[in-house]
Parts: sequence; C-alpha cells; structure tokens
Amino acid sequence: MDRSVHGLPEAICKMLFRQISDSVYLIDPETSNILEANPAGYRSLGMTREEVVDHSVLSLNKDVIGLDQWREISGEIQANGAYTFIGRHRRKDGSDFPVEVVTDCIEHAGRKLLVSVARDLTGYQRHRDYLLENEHLHTLFLNESSDGLWDWNLEDDSLFLSPQWFRIMGYGPHEIEHPTLNTWSDALHPDDREGVMASLQSHLRGETARYEAKYRLRNRNGQYIWLHDRGLIAKRGEQGEPLRMVGLVIDITESRQHEEELLQRSRMDELTGLYNRRAGYEMFERYLIKSQHSSQPLQVAMLDLDRFKQLNDTYGHLDGDRAIQHFASTLKSHLRAGDNLFRWGGEEFLLLCPGVSSAEAAALMTRLIAQVAAAPFMTSSGERLTITCSAGLAGYPQDGQSIRELVSKADQSMYAAKQAGRNRVV
Ligand code: GH3
Ligand code: MG
Ligand code: MG
Repeated sequence: MDRSVHGLPEAICKMLFRQISDSVYLIDPETSNILEANPAGYRSLGMTREEVVDHSVLSLNKDVIGLDQWREISGEIQANGAYTFIGRHRRKDGSDFPVEVVTDCIEHAGRKLLVSVARDLTGYQRHRDYLLENEHLHTLFLNESSDGLWDWNLEDDSLFLSPQWFRIMGYGPHEIEHPTLNTWSDALHPDDREGVMASLQSHLRGETARYEAKYRLRNRNGQYIWLHDRGLIAKRGEQGEPLRMVGLVIDITESRQHEEELLQRSRMDELTGLYNRRAGYEMFERYLIKSQHSSQPLQVAMLDLDRFKQLNDTYGHLDGDRAIQHFASTLKSHLRAGDNLFRWGGEEFLLLCPGVSSAEAAALMTRLIAQVAAAPFMTSSGERLTITCSAGLAGYPQDGQSIRELVSKADQSMYAAKQAGRNRVV
C-alpha cells in the first residue's frame, strides 16, 4: 500500500481505522472471508477480532444468502466501483441491527480487496420512524399548541403560519392568502418595529444564537396584542446564507396587562389615588431634563398639613386618614392642567409646576392654601374641622440644579412657613 492516501500519513490512516465509529472490513472478493476488521467492526457484532477475521462475511450479513449471491455482488462492485446497500448485520447473540454499507474495491499488493464501511442506522431509523409514526404529534402541535408557529422561506419570502397563529391574531385559517414577511412586519406596532427588525436582522447576520422579541402586533380588529416571539434559522445555503427560519409566538397580552397593572399600582398611593414618591421622582426627572433642554423654569412646592399630630391624637388615625384624603382631593380639584401632585410622605405632598415662573407658582400656592382653609373637613363624629397647610417653594434654575437640591430647598422654605406661623407659603 502507498505510504499515504491523498497525502494522508499512514499514522493517520491507522488512527482512523482504529478510532472511527463506523465498522470497516477488508474482504476477500473470492472467498467472502473477512481479512481484517477494525475495533468498531468486531465490537458492533459483539465479537472479538479473532471471531471475525477469517470468517465469511456471509455469517454477519443477514440479507445475503449463499456464496452465489455474494459472488454476484462482489463482481458488480469490482466492475462498477462503490456500492451502497441497506441491510441488517447479525450479532454473535443472533440479534440484528440496520446498517448502511458502502463497499468499494481496491488493489493492494497485486490482489483485489473489498473494503466495506458499515454504519449502524439504529439511531437514524429510530429518528425517522419517530417522525413518520408521529405525524399526529406534528398535526397536534400545529393545530392545538397555544403557540403560533411560523416558517419563513427566505428564498421566495413566503411565510407559513399555523392555524393557531391565525387564531391568536383573530383571523380565520385561510383569511390571509399568501402571507409574506411584510404581512407580519406591516402589522408591527410603529414603536416596536425598529427594535424587532433589528433583532431579526442580527440573528440573520449570525450575531445572535436565536431571534427573540416581545412586541405589539395589530390583530384583525385593529387592536394591538402583545406577543413573545422566538425563532431560529432552520436551513442554510452552501455559503451559509439563511434560507429558512422557523419560530413560535405566544400571546402575552394578559400577563403584560397584569405587569402593567402591578407597575401602575407600585406607582400609586392607595389612600389618595395620587402618584407616590417613586412615581414623583420619575416624573421630576423627566421634567427636569426637559427644563434643562428647553431652558424653561420648573417650580417645586412642598406642602405639609399643619398640626396634624394633634388631629390624629384628638380624632384618631382613621379620621386622620380621611383628612389626608380630603386635603388631597381639595388640592386636586384646584390644580391646573400642567400641574402634578404627588403624595411625598405621610401628610406631605409635592407639587411640580413645569414652565411656570416663581411668581406664578407663589400666586397659585397662595390660592391653594386659601382654598384648603376654606374647605373644612367633616370628622366621622360630624364635626367640621378647618385644616390648613404650609408650603415651601423652590424653582429651577435659580434654587438648584438637581432634584435633591430642589426638594431640600422646598423643604427648607416649608419649614420657614411653619416657623412664620403656618397656613402660608414661603
Ligand atoms: P406641623 O404643623 O409642624 O407639620 O405639625 P405636624 O403635627 O403635622 O407634624 P409632622 O408633619 O411632623 O407630623 C405629621 C404626622 O402625621 C406624623 C404622623 O403621625 C402623621 N401621619 C403621617 N402619615 C399618616 C397617615 O397616613 N395617616 C395618619 N392618620 N397620620 C399620618
Ligand atoms: Mg405636618
Ligand atoms: Mg409632615
């Protein structure tokens, strides 16, 4: 034999022969005797090398009966070259397994030799049988799964959409005749489109292991529903270019609404129905950035009920709560469209007035304080109580540049209003 095969060193040929998981047999074309077998070759039959070598290949081949048939096959291979047959090999214990055998003829040291490479198909067969026998699973999945399935053929831009996909979107199963990618992308919410397409493109470019996105899609009624979409390139061309992509969508509208409700609740104050301090900070931040960009003023007022401990002590905590509610609703009913009121703490409230001068804000506060004093609160025992509050003002940009500075300044002013006798604005 040559010292190399297509430039492969003999050491590598030997290593391959020893290590390859396919069975390799060298066979005498005349006698059908196995001259040599690699470890996979004898182990797959449950035998030792000695039990295989010098025995006829017919003993392991379940489908070739007798020497005559063997000579026919052998002659065919010698005349026409590589021959593939699918059959069964028999183990020592009598059991058998499916194989695909490729046999070719070589010449070595002046004599002809057959080389058979046999691959155990048990695994493949199981897989194929599974797919064939379980078509009902495929059908069940397409029709009954709560996920909608899509299958995008990039070559002709056709888009297969499963019945459940149509159901999620409110369509009858045949209502969209020849869906393409545009059928889907045209229905994307304008605010989500850019992000979703970027995520899809980055998977197509091979930058991500899979495509995943959460977005809103317009359904048949024109309403947007929330979807969680996941997909993968399922087929590539010779240059690795994506040819086909498959994916699953699931309707997450309900959980999204639930999430939003929770988020909304975490930003609300239950007692007054106003936004709480957390939401106040978020909005404060947005207003401050806007003011900085547009050089518009922003006024901040801190309001605190006067002598509230006394009210609590005299009338009880429940009446205290109701007084806070009453106070909040009095303020709310007198605010202007652009003003934002938050419950900052116990009986402290923060008011944001964007785009308003400090003189205007001072006038508003004076008015509000008078209105609070003019709207007495009715205790549960029927007593009319006048409640008053004190307010401190601070303004961007003259009193501070950050939320912290502005809040602290408004706090100081509020404290000064208390010092000056309460029921007033400083
Ligand atoms: P001042 O005029 O100086 O503000 O006097 P004050 O008594 O109002 O003093 P301060 O603002 O420091 O105290 C507020 C009190 O309000 C303390 C607390 O017991 C009470 N409080 C805080 N949150 C609530 C609430 O949600 N419900 C009720 N009922 N009371 C509250
Ligand atoms: Mg107080
Ligand atoms: Mg207080």
